Amino acid sequence: LTQLYAPLNFLGFVYREIKHALADMERMFGLMEQGEEVADRADARPLQTSQAAIRFNNVDFGYESNRQILFDVSFSIPAGKTLAVVGSSGAGKSTLSRLLFRFYDVHSGSITINDTDVRDLTQASLRQHIGIVPQDTVLFNDSILYNIAYGKPDASEQEIVQAAKAASIHDFVMSLPDGYQTQVGERGLKLSGGEKQRVAIARTILKNPPILILDEATSALDTRTERVIQDELRLVARDRTTLIIAHRLSTIVDADEIIVMDHGRVLERGSHRGLIQQDGRYAQMWALQQSGQDPDPPSDGGDAI
Ligand code: ATP
Repeated sequence: LTQLYAPLNFLGFVYREIKHALADMERMFGLMEQGEEVADRADARPLQTSQAAIRFNNVDFGYESNRQILFDVSFSIPAGKTLAVVGSSGAGKSTLSRLLFRFYDVHSGSITINDTDVRDLTQASLRQHIGIVPQDTVLFNDSILYNIAYGKPDASEQEIVQAAKAASIHDFVMSLPDGYQTQVGERGLKLSGGEKQRVAIARTILKNPPILILDEATSALDTRTERVIQDELRLVARDRTTLIIAHRLSTIVDADEIIVMDHGRVLERGSHRGLIQQDGRYAQMWALQQSGQDPDPPSDGGDAI
């Protein structure tokens, strides 16, 4: 029996990991109804790295065979660098993050991490390496402690508190009568948009992934909270390979590279300064946002990534 214990225990671990990954996908992507499954190859290898260089190579993709969404998209994000994606609603920005998470497979071209095609990696290991701070964080109907620890289910209480402190939510939690045991979610205490984002940030700090996807909220937070959270996110993103889906250009001026998407194609690319000099679409968007006229008014609520 003892000989059986180790493999069973391992299977239990794998099962929990897969269950978590599935819950992640469903909640983060808000796409529970989606059918087309991707499966691990028989010889899939686990990703094991703390330094992830990401590459999209001539990616074509569509959710349905009769409607192509991405056309020949290529970019690379060197390990530890930040790429921001901007573009009008429906341009295909969030689709890039869904493909990186391998919620779907590309139709042609490839996505690689450290030169390995994501289709050759196990999905569980891929997703363990990616942290997501979505537009709208979904909380589980459970304690705040559980909601933060979800980033790393075996975390000690001390690690959880440290992450909460780093995400500036510890003091708030301590001000609640039940502290970390406070029940949140639909049936518990309702948290504000900013508080929920901080829970997502604490989760990510705890998970400590080498890859980060930030899906910027289109609305919701007041300007001051927004700015503080942006600063916190910048700290979390430091040294991680980061893909930002951005709506406000002011938050990405420091990105290492910016790509402008239009109808599924990369229209322009460069640094903020370079793109302003190009005087094309990005420069137009910048001018409009600076004058307070948003060229791409947020649709209500936005979608999960
Ligand atoms: P936004 O800024 O509004 O979030 P986006 O640039 O992120 O937009 P995507 O979410 O990537 O755009 O969507 C690109 C296109 O793909 C849209 O036309 C959308 O209708 C389509 N699309 C997105 N998800 C699906 C899906 N699950 N099934 C079919 N089509 C989809």
